Amino acid sequence: MDSLTIVLKAAERAAHWHSAQRRKGAAQEPYINHLLEVARLVAEATDGRDPDLVIAALLHDAVEDQEVSRAAIALEFGEDVAALVMEVTDDKTLPKARRKRLQIEHAAAKSPRAAILKLADKTSNLTTLAVSPPANWDASRRLDYVQWARDVVAGLRVDSPFLLERFSDAADAAERAARG
Ligand code: ZN
Repeated sequence: MDSLTIVLKAAERAAHWHSAQRRKGAAQEPYINHLLEVARLVAEATDGRDPDLVIAALLHDAVEDQEVSRAAIALEFGEDVAALVMEVTDDKTLPKARRKRLQIEHAAAKSPRAAILKLADKTSNLTTLAVSPPANWDASRRLDYVQWARDVVAGLRVDSPFLLERFSDAADAAERAARG
């Protein structure tokens, strides 16, 4: 199958798997908006040269949030995509605080491609935090989240000035918005 068709097939699958999920922000955007934004950032950062990484971006929350199996992703989209998705999937059996700490501790061990995906994910989350924070998050919780995202990203081995700048802009915007 050609890469354009398979990328769109992944987008369609993602829309289906996440159809009942909304973003945490007050605007309650459909979750697919997040997945498309992350995929677009990955495509831009790699100049469209890594279709498997774009597909992994579209599917990056399917295992963690929708309990889609690794095997289902591997069967339909191949081992490379499945391995990338698993590299950015947290172990949900662990308590949330520990998962967040592990993201910082494990950042440096991520492959360069998974690092790009993680950086795009954090960029998208901070962009939304700036414009549509969760209704029950006060300023200090928002600032803590930005600092945590900065700590994760500081550990990533990522060679994309484009994406690092997008992240930095999004983090600054989220901090400005939180401080009012
Ligand atoms: Zn995500």
